[in-house]
Amino acid sequence: MSAFLQCDAHGCDHRETVDEIREDQIGRPCPNCGESLLTRADYDVYVARFKPMLDVMKVLGLAVEPTPGAEGVRTSIHYHDGVTTIREHGAG
Ligand SMILES: [Zn+2]
Repeated sequence: MSAFLQCDAHGCDHRETVDEIREDQIGRPCPNCGESLLTRADYDVYVARFKPMLDVMKVLGLAVEPTPGAEGVRTSIHYHDGVTTIREHGAG
């Protein structure tokens, strides 16, 4: 399961993929603008609401890791300031 940290600064669309969102990533600066990519509030919500859901999705086989060179679908969930974004990324 992949997750991503996304910069929410206005005009900055930096995003980086991580294997999982961890507490030690709180306050990690955006390489473009220096804003925090993950706030404590974001992390708390992620752990309380999304991580259990991701675990369920994993069990149900809904979260498919992309395989290099093969067709695959990856689901990303992002939360910030009350806005949840769920995307499925097709191969390519
Ligand atoms: Zn940024």
